[in-house]
Amino acid sequence: MLNLARANLSNDPLNVAINACVEQASARKHTYDQARGHLGASLIGDDCPRKIQFEWKVATTTFPARVRSIVARGHFFEAESRQLLVDAGFAFAPPEVLSFVAADGLIAGHADGIIINAPAFPGFYLATPALWEHKGLNAKNYRATERDGLAKVFPRYAAQVALYQNFLNVTNPALITITNADTCERLHFTVPFDARRAQEASDRAVQVIEATRADELLPRLDPALEDFRCKMCSHRERCLRYK
Ligand code: SF4
Repeated sequence: MLNLARANLSNDPLNVAINACVEQASARKHTYDQARGHLGASLIGDDCPRKIQFEWKVATTTFPARVRSIVARGHFFEAESRQLLVDAGFAFAPPEVLSFVAADGLIAGHADGIIINAPAFPGFYLATPALWEHKGLNAKNYRATERDGLAKVFPRYAAQVALYQNFLNVTNPALITITNADTCERLHFTVPFDARRAQEASDRAVQVIEATRADELLPRLDPALEDFRCKMCSHRERCLRYK
């Protein structure tokens, strides 16, 4: 009997060969990428303190092309969302005021935007200046955030927002825009400034900096690496090499 089942195109030698070339080209392009000198505020709220250390200190040269594309996709949606808000009447502060450094330059961050003027909406008033932060999420995470809010679904992002609000001294409620990367829907909501969250994130940053300076690796999120976050972690193999 003839087997008419279609072969999986991902396994086709042509696909495998081209993807291998693409990976090599991507790796060549990023050969000289350096690890960041400062701890980025976007990392601080991660659930795993050890992962924060890896993300800070390990150069991004090892990232596969797929991960770089996810980052590029986020930048694309951010720029597009911002332009749509401008078209709708929002005004943004110039880029020079979006960055901060703290702790002698060891903590730094760069916000996506600060809204300095917003159009009037019936029954709603956005106090300005307001931090603006954009995230591009897949449909599953978009729906979860829509249902449960940012702090519950992505405490890391909530910590990032609190730190930006604190260090940029923009403590009006932040406007968050989430783009659903699968459907291109957009979700906009505000997040009030949470001073306690900012303080906790700042304390955590100090803990990570002090341990890293002392060449200490912080504990794993899950000693057995069975947690779903460990299974998805891009530093899993590296983590396994250390106790
Ligand atoms: S594998 Fe788990 S414990 Fe290790 S760095 Fe990643 S999240 Fe943390």
